[in-house]
Amino acid sequence: MASGKPPMLSAGFILLAALLCGCVSQPARPVAHAAPPAPAQPNGPVPSVEASVNDDPCAIQLTSIEGALADYYLMNQRLPDKLEEIQNYRDVLDPNPIVLTCPTSHQPYVYKPAGLVSPNSRKRIIVYDPTPAHRGGRFVLWMEPQPSGKGLVMDVKLLPDKEFKPFVPPLEP
Ligand SMILES: [Zn+2]
Repeated sequence: MASGKPPMLSAGFILLAALLCGCVSQPARPVAHAAPPAPAQPNGPVPSVEASVNDDPCAIQLTSIEGALADYYLMNQRLPDKLEEIQNYRDVLDPNPIVLTCPTSHQPYVYKPAGLVSPNSRKRIIVYDPTPAHRGGRFVLWMEPQPSGKGLVMDVKLLPDKEFKPFVPPLEP
């Protein structure tokens, strides 16, 4: 016989009734394990400036170019002669061609496979804005010299024009 059932049923009924009438007002709520807020940066506005630079459509386009150039280099062990050649090396998940024109100045990026060099820097600028259209600065894609076979280490950077100016084509040997 079901001797143990009536108390359980009634307990269940009471709980149900309590839920229905709203007397039990503690729905199981997932405990929010929110990450603690990031500590304030001591440098004030620097992080937000950096973020806005990285969010700039021009920087995003140059980052796409960077990825395709890296893939091209991986496959060919050299940089392409023309920037248009990277269209075959773009992200397979992105159906759109890589844009090779600055969205601010509407002028095509300048591509220098040999790079622009500066006495002030070890880096070589290989793609850059044709004009200082970004509040007096240019977005550039520059790379670190690497031992051969070590791939490319590239970065997108917004250079104030006075920092861009010292970069010139390397002297022909
Ligand atoms: Zn630009």
